[in-house]
Amino acid sequence: MSNVRHVLGISGGKDSAALAIYLHEKYPQIDFEYYFCDTGKELDETYQLIEKLESYLGKSILKLENEELHGLNEDPFDYYYKIFRGYLPSSQARWCTAMMKLKPFENFVQNDPTLSYVGIRGDEDREGYISRQENIQSIFPFRKNIWSVDVLNLIFNPSNIDHILDCYNEYLSGDKLDYVHHVFSKPIPFDRNRRAEKNALIKESTESLLNLGVPEFNHVVFKFLKSTNYSVALLDDFPLLDNEDVLIRDDIFKILEERPVGVPKYYEKIPFEVDGQKGEYARSRSGCYFCFFQQKIEWVWLYEQHPNLFRKAMHYENVDEHFTWTSDESLEELIQPERIRQIKLDHIHRSNREKSNNSPFLIDILEGTERDGCNTCFL
Ligand code: SF4
Repeated sequence: MSNVRHVLGISGGKDSAALAIYLHEKYPQIDFEYYFCDTGKELDETYQLIEKLESYLGKSILKLENEELHGLNEDPFDYYYKIFRGYLPSSQARWCTAMMKLKPFENFVQNDPTLSYVGIRGDEDREGYISRQENIQSIFPFRKNIWSVDVLNLIFNPSNIDHILDCYNEYLSGDKLDYVHHVFSKPIPFDRNRRAEKNALIKESTESLLNLGVPEFNHVVFKFLKSTNYSVALLDDFPLLDNEDVLIRDDIFKILEERPVGVPKYYEKIPFEVDGQKGEYARSRSGCYFCFFQQKIEWVWLYEQHPNLFRKAMHYENVDEHFTWTSDESLEELIQPERIRQIKLDHIHRSNREKSNNSPFLIDILEGTERDGCNTCFL
């Protein structure tokens, strides 16, 4: 028996909720530990989702909190807001994620060898959060490539290639093995100045190897990692190695819709009209209702759909000190009728433009998610 922990963070968003359900159903033999880092500032739908998930999974979702908050009866965000003297978090100074998500998570895991399952989907082109702690290894079950980028860097590092090819000998032969040799014969620059080129080549080579056989690739990586300190190396077997599923956005909605858990209501697109033009908006992120990552149209959604929360968000701003949620305007300015009209029109035009370009980012724009944001908070 290994002592590796299998942990899964529930953000309150659709992807992590679907991941918990998917893994629970597909791998009942794995003892998953579910956790949630509460900021105290989530939408009600998030707390409802957590309750429904607990009941469906038949297991508690542990609420993580830093020690200094024990017994204080204060929302974590408000506690740290005071500590940071009203300085609002931003994408440049993201103290909220550091204090309310990463710190409690790392305290929870301690030094235990841990696999952390992350809900980045197969139709997303981005990397997830990689812990600085060596004992925490991220796994991405919805993607064709379940391994994190740091693992791939090792696989394609010139000093490891002989070892990898030895591992491949066990799983492939003939033309397929020749092809693997061909993939590894392409030079990949590992010097600092050519990082983008290196990443692109690693991505391309990984795709080539996965196309040759996902389970074969996974078994080779697993075997190779046995010679490292990665947490997965402590397992005798890892059932996800043979998983060839790739789950995309529609699959995620289906998983939630077909179970009593359901999709959080804030994903529902609400139509609006401005100057005779029709558009629609939704909130699609989990996380704090005042999150600075949200787009202007999402702020308008919050103002119109949850005016009480919008007012609360306004109270955190200190315009004299320039502590505002968005860098270029205060929430007071954002809700002036002419400004709302402009934001809605901009949103409609952008959505139409992406529609006519048949852009793959259209769904993100319609949903208001965009491609940026916080991997720790929104998955
Ligand atoms: S949701 Fe946004 S504001 Fe809340 S902790 Fe995450 S990044 Fe910070």
